[in-house]
Amino acid sequence: MTPLFGPAGNCDSFTKQYKSSVHAPAWLRDMGLDCYEYQCGRGVNVGKDTARAIGLAAKEAGIVMSLHAPYFINLSGDDPQRVEKNVEYILQAARACAWLGGDRIVVHCGGLSGMERETAMAHTLYNLREALRALEQEKLDHIRLCVETMGKINVLGDGGEVCRICQSDERLLPCIDFGHLNARTGGHMSTEEEMAALLDLLWNTLGEARARAFHAHFSKIEYGKGGEVRHLTFDDAVFGPEFIPLARLLTKRRLAPRIICESAGTQAEDALLMKQQFEQAIQEEQL
Ligand SMILES: [Zn+2]
Repeated sequence: MTPLFGPAGNCDSFTKQYKSSVHAPAWLRDMGLDCYEYQCGRGVNVGKDTARAIGLAAKEAGIVMSLHAPYFINLSGDDPQRVEKNVEYILQAARACAWLGGDRIVVHCGGLSGMERETAMAHTLYNLREALRALEQEKLDHIRLCVETMGKINVLGDGGEVCRICQSDERLLPCIDFGHLNARTGGHMSTEEEMAALLDLLWNTLGEARARAFHAHFSKIEYGKGGEVRHLTFDDAVFGPEFIPLARLLTKRRLAPRIICESAGTQAEDALLMKQQFEQAIQEEQL
């Protein structure tokens, strides 16, 4: 098992050349990448035929697929109609993910909207229970639901909260967004020590299997008082985090997360840079 690297959606250099994502898997393989996260943040608008065509192209290229579920899913709401809608959006995302031949969907934690964190946590656990039940009923439970750590402070989803959520059901996987965690802690997810502490937390709360094969997002993110402001590219030298400390830890601990780069416009190029830094870390360790 080795980490996989790929982009979130299509980068600028791809969209300059191609109109359809059907061409993305072969293009990513030719670059040397391993995986691709299809973006449905604004809603699941992809049709069955297109999704299946992308899935076939991914299979042929050996590209591992996942899907980002809509941002408007609000897991911290408890209004029954809201819960029902959340479940339906998650089902739509899982269906599209299955057409793509993928095995993971990523979902955001919800905002606090004045609630205590514990109340938002209880609502989140309830929403996810309902979603897992619906996935099982539709025989879509081979699609893993990944719960993402969030970049804004007034939103549920720091490292501990995401681990607690994933402890509620072993089918849930954490999506560790290192840029988000760095943003919400004012820059404290950037050293090898800080990243090691997070990996320890995953190991101690979720066990070996999930601590080895977790889902991850990695990008540099500008932050302010409230946390995340905007996604940057790897050219940024101010906000971070850098990937090299994580590459060293993945090597030392033999971890194999799937790492999706969400850089603004250069996500495939930056994913490749991470893969190269990881390979460099392996070489250094063997010296
Ligand atoms: Zn996300």
